[in-house]
Amino acid sequence: MLYRNARIENAEATSDIRVTDGLFAQIAPHLEAAPGEEVIDLNGKLVLPPFIESHVHLDTCLTAGDPVWNMSGTLFEGIECWSKRKDKLSRQDIRERVQQCVRLYAANGVQFIRTHVDVTDPKLTAMQALIELREELRDVMEIQIVAFPQEGILSYPNGKQLMIDAVKMGADCVGAIPHFEFTREYSVESLNFALQLAADNGKLVDVHCDEIDDEASRGLETVAARALELELFDKVTASHTTAMHSYNNAYVLRLMRLLKMSKINFVANPLVNTHLQGRVDTYPKRRGITRVKELTAEGINVSFGHDDIFDPWYPMGNGSLRDVVFMGLHVCQMMGYEDIMNSYRFITTNAAKTLHLGDRYGIAEGRAANFIVLDAPHYYDALNRNAPVLRSVRMGKTIAETRPAATEIEF
Ligand SMILES: [Zn+2]
Repeated sequence: MLYRNARIENAEATSDIRVTDGLFAQIAPHLEAAPGEEVIDLNGKLVLPPFIESHVHLDTCLTAGDPVWNMSGTLFEGIECWSKRKDKLSRQDIRERVQQCVRLYAANGVQFIRTHVDVTDPKLTAMQALIELREELRDVMEIQIVAFPQEGILSYPNGKQLMIDAVKMGADCVGAIPHFEFTREYSVESLNFALQLAADNGKLVDVHCDEIDDEASRGLETVAARALELELFDKVTASHTTAMHSYNNAYVLRLMRLLKMSKINFVANPLVNTHLQGRVDTYPKRRGITRVKELTAEGINVSFGHDDIFDPWYPMGNGSLRDVVFMGLHVCQMMGYEDIMNSYRFITTNAAKTLHLGDRYGIAEGRAANFIVLDAPHYYDALNRNAPVLRSVRMGKTIAETRPAATEIEF
């Protein structure tokens, strides 16, 4: 199969791409079609490596309004709504919603998902369902599973053992939620436990870290210190870190040295945190998003996630990561020309680092032929016009196609 005239990652010039046996066989300015070879002309459209969802909760997705809507929009009312919905939670219910959500993502060019799965459940129902689906959906979506202790590791009965069990069942990553633990001591101990569990079992780490507007919430320094000392480095990710928005600058200056030494990744969730943070403020209201611009300037890896898709905590979401990037650029004030042009990296190459995909990801000869085609010549235009993903190709096979809507102007 020969794809002609691809504009790979905003390049000025176009390239031809030959795909053979599910791999990128050749990429060059011009390739001759072999006799009988199928040719698709991409007409200078933007070609990117597939989008990556680096932070979502698939086990709660698509439950907004069932059985009740979150009327205030707050985190706490979200928890109340979820506790009513939790009664109906079954393996089949989770399977159906996750399959539907994966199809939404696929339609929008996503081929990799890191999902957090609540393990503060003595039956580990959601974990079991997600582990089955990870296998079943492997050909269309690569799913990474984080054992996520929604109600804490030390603050939930048998919390440590549930984490150990989830890792034994096959979780890819160990999670934690230090800002939710009962005490600061529990917070530190939960992180020591989680990172040691990951080190002992060769797992990645992704912590819900300091997702609160409390400037005294300092789980992040413990995450970074343990990542450094246990030599886990970039296997570790700190998600949210919204408290960093409220830290004093002198502390951030000191912290930044440790963050760089630790080589950890960050995930910001601009839609959900703009919606949920600053809720106890009157005016001025904090934006409650981590310091994406400053971390990026220091060479620290940051990716963006959706976090929640149409659930009690966030009432929107259709599987498109475009809105995540769009909101992220606004709320982080990263709207310079280069910032906008390169912002696809928050949901592609940067996210690939977060997920630790290595050379399993990227458009290069010899790698898996996974790519997407957008209806735009470059990402600036794609982002601005909300251009659809025309085609998503995985291991050389088209797994989703979209025909753009046509508008007739009558004057
Ligand atoms: Zn989350």
